[in-house]
Amino acid sequence: MIRFDILTVFPEMFTSFCGCSILKKALDKGLISIQLHDIRNHADDKHRMTDDAPYGGGGGMVMKVEPIDKALRSIPMVTDEAPIILLTPQGERFCQKIAEEMAAYPQLLLVCGHYEGVDERVRAKLVNREISIGDYILTGGELPAMILVDAVSRLVPGVLGNSDSAGADSFSIGLLEYPHYTRPAEYRGWKVPEVLLSGNHREIELWRRRESLLRTKKRRPDLLTGIELTKQEKMWLTEGFE
Ligand code: SAM
Repeated sequence: MIRFDILTVFPEMFTSFCGCSILKKALDKGLISIQLHDIRNHADDKHRMTDDAPYGGGGGMVMKVEPIDKALRSIPMVTDEAPIILLTPQGERFCQKIAEEMAAYPQLLLVCGHYEGVDERVRAKLVNREISIGDYILTGGELPAMILVDAVSRLVPGVLGNSDSAGADSFSIGLLEYPHYTRPAEYRGWKVPEVLLSGNHREIELWRRRESLLRTKKRRPDLLTGIELTKQEKMWLTEGFE
């Protein structure tokens, strides 16, 4: 069970995210819990201001430190070790390895920035981790938080219907995953590879491994560094593509 505490000024953005598909089932089964904390509820002034103009001038508004601090302090901590994460384009780049690392914690706290960003004291004093989902700028940290919650939740035992299905995913084994096909066996003359219809599980396994390696070599050769390969696998890679 992982508890996600999400601090945001737009909790309503999470309604459909939590309300359908695999995440809804995981929530219903109690495998994960998502607690939304509206930062506005922790703003003391009469207009419930969570942002203000930047010191030193310049455009955009900056999210204030006090409401975020108060919101964080209102959250019951399951463990002292819980990552308190600021979603920021300046953080370390999110990847499957970080998702796996995060899935080992019972609680994750996620702070979503908005506008021009957040007061630097949030980064320096209140959080212990900063995560970016890529080199582009979004309007807020809510989508990045959803991405993190989604990627981590599917690693929680029982969340995916078939417990094997996360194991062969791209990046989980350090490679891109092999291609998938389903019925019909032929559509507009486009055929499913014969081996997948053969029922020969050993041959299917070899074909998938070879496809996975070739696909990785073609699209993400950087991932092959450090992967241990058998003689046969090295041959597949030097033989190249059909
Ligand atoms: N001015 C900031 C900068 O240049 O670093 C960008 C602020 S952005 C418009 C507003 C908020 O969206 C950020 O505080 C952060 O929470 C979130 N955000 C935007 N892009 C992101 C990304 N690639 N990864 C994670 N969070 C992001």
